[in-house]
Amino acid sequence: MATPHHAHCIFCDIIRGAAEVSMCYEDATALAFMDIQPVNPGHVLVVPRQHYESFLDLPRELGMHLFEVAMQLAPIVRRVSGLEGMNLVVSSGAAAGQDVYHFHVHVIPRQTDDGFDVPLPFPGSRMPDRTQLDATAARIIASLRDPMRPTPAKTLSAVK
Ligand code: 5GP
Ligand code: ZN
Repeated sequence: MATPHHAHCIFCDIIRGAAEVSMCYEDATALAFMDIQPVNPGHVLVVPRQHYESFLDLPRELGMHLFEVAMQLAPIVRRVSGLEGMNLVVSSGAAAGQDVYHFHVHVIPRQTDDGFDVPLPFPGSRMPDRTQLDATAARIIASLRDPMRPTPAKTLSAVK
């Protein structure tokens, strides 16, 4: 698949053996290696062998497999890092802060006061009233029942 954001993919380089890496898991369709700039020691990236840019590009079965690999690695990462806390992070798309456009799941061991943060609940939220939450839920339910029916983005953001 094309890589529109970056002509060159560092993870594809790693996968074909053209770049230095510390690999910790490999199978026919997935691998995992140490993040070069870890939040804490033990920070692992779970990556498909095949290049898919983002979460929405990923075939469903492969996505399930990557999550399975992350689940297999999570207790090992916890044991090896000696850290109890953990974040699983997927950033999909530029707006979500994705930097490397080869899909990956971060498995991040966490300790108190390590300086990393996933600020949820979001302090910038207006906390919509129940009517708005219900309206958005209803739109999602309708779309799940009839995935072919177009859901204009502006309508969804109007009830956000
Ligand atoms: P993103 O923001 O796309 O979710 O995160 C990309 C991650 O890839 C970052 O945590 C970054 O440290 C890591 N990374 C970027 N380049 C390399 C590399 O060449 N090798 C490895 N092992 N990790 C990388
Ligand atoms: Zn790639």
